Amino acid sequence: MDIQQNIPLAPYTTVKIGGPADFFIHVHNSKEFIEALEYGQKNNLPVTILGNGSNVLISDSGLRGLVIKNDSEKMEIFDENKIKVSSGTQLAHLINYSLDHNLLGLEEFAYIPSTVGGAVAGNIHGIRSHFSDYVDSIEKYNDFIISVNLKLTPGDSTQAKIEAQEIIQKKSQIQSMLSLGSIFKNPEGKDPAGMIIDQQLHLKGYSVGDAQISPTHGNFIVNTGHATAKDYLALINLVQSQMQTKFGFQFELEIKLLGEF
Ligand SMILES: Cc1cc2nc3c(=O)[nH]c(=O)nc-3n(C[C@H](O)[C@H](O)[C@H](O)COP(=O)(O)OP(=O)(O)OC[C@H]3O[C@@H](n4cnc5c(N)ncnc54)[C@H](O)[C@@H]3O)c2cc1C
Repeated sequence: MDIQQNIPLAPYTTVKIGGPADFFIHVHNSKEFIEALEYGQKNNLPVTILGNGSNVLISDSGLRGLVIKNDSEKMEIFDENKIKVSSGTQLAHLINYSLDHNLLGLEEFAYIPSTVGGAVAGNIHGIRSHFSDYVDSIEKYNDFIISVNLKLTPGDSTQAKIEAQEIIQKKSQIQSMLSLGSIFKNPEGKDPAGMIIDQQLHLKGYSVGDAQISPTHGNFIVNTGHATAKDYLALINLVQSQMQTKFGFQFELEIKLLGEF
């Protein structure tokens, strides 16, 4: 096992923000993943799993303990319409694999830059439903997701492949990959957060340092250069304080903050 020390985490996130991990192990299959988890447990280290780092704002001071970057990728069809998939598998690969085998359902999650573990941990939402709607069972080590069995619908995938391409085409126009996806959850019974930030707070394009409220999507904050977690959080706090003043409530965060802020 290659245990590295003091490894910057920014490259392992979509938004390219985050300080160093004390200890870092990059795993490429489930066996290595479990060995890394055992190492963390034996050495009493707090453990953080990183999939694609597409939903986490990591502190500029980094993360204490052990960070495991999970690239365990494996997919296997069984019982005709089920897929056993390792948690580090890229969701995009899983979508292509399932459609190539005429198993339908996952196309609605096209463009989400997730690993399967991240998709289960956060129960991602697609165009029509949540990822949990396709999950049959989960193999875990403590709280950590090792692999997942998915149950899909057999059928001709021609139309589903077209839908996936259309989603990618549409979303890529407005959703920058140099981001963490939607920052805030949409408030229940109200306009979507992005619409409020754009049309009520008029903050689209507003920046703190190199963190900017996306000019194309009010609920995305993008890194336009060398943004820090501090810049990013300052922008989040600015939105929250304007929401509080103007509407008397704040948004709930959709992203996770990791480390000390
Ligand atoms: C351009 C863009 C578009 C997006 N669109 C959407 C969207 O449409 N819908 C949506 O819901 N989200 C969306 N997101 C957010 C994000 O992609 C999802 O939340 C995604 O599931 C995160 O997966 P990840 O592998 O990057 O997880 P990470 O960000 O690496 O981790 C997220 C959390 O899951 C935990 N975790 C990861 N793997 C495991 C594991 N194996 N076991 C236990 N815990 C684990 C981590 O510790 C962390 O707490 C978008 C993000 C971007 C950048």
